[in-house]
Amino acid sequence: EMENLYEILQVDPKASQQEIKRSFQKLALKFHPDKLPTRGDTNMAETRDRDGCQLFQRISTAWSVLGDPDQRKQYDALWHHRCVLFESCGPIHDRVPFNGFKKCTETNEYLYECRCSDYLVLTEQDVCLKLDVVNCSTCSLNVIVDY
Ligand SMILES: [Zn+2]
Repeated sequence: EMENLYEILQVDPKASQQEIKRSFQKLALKFHPDKLPTRGDTNMAETRDRDGCQLFQRISTAWSVLGDPDQRKQYDALWHHRCVLFESCGPIHDRVPFNGFKKCTETNEYLYECRCSDYLVLTEQDVCLKLDVVNCSTCSLNVIVDY
């Protein structure tokens, strides 16, 4: 399921970058007092493994997206897109496991053949942000993706 990163960082979706940063630092200190990671820290994966703290991991992931204004913009757009799809409620909601999608090596997109034989498409970015609803532009079927 696509996560609401703003809820994880306990900030308003309209919060400034500064406010998001402050909230992240507060949460990071609270849940990981030994090490305050910064974005792009290569030791982070190691720390996560050692720590095994799921919540801290979620906080870090949320920060890696929302802490970067460009990525935040992309996330906002994708989240909005997702809400529109859920509200529009296409004819049938199917459920498809993510491993039912095949990766196209040419475009790096993930494809799933729809009933109408058109393809449902997830981009790498969609997958990275775990977009969990995808719409077929031909038959307007909405499909829920299980990661
Ligand atoms: Zn279709």
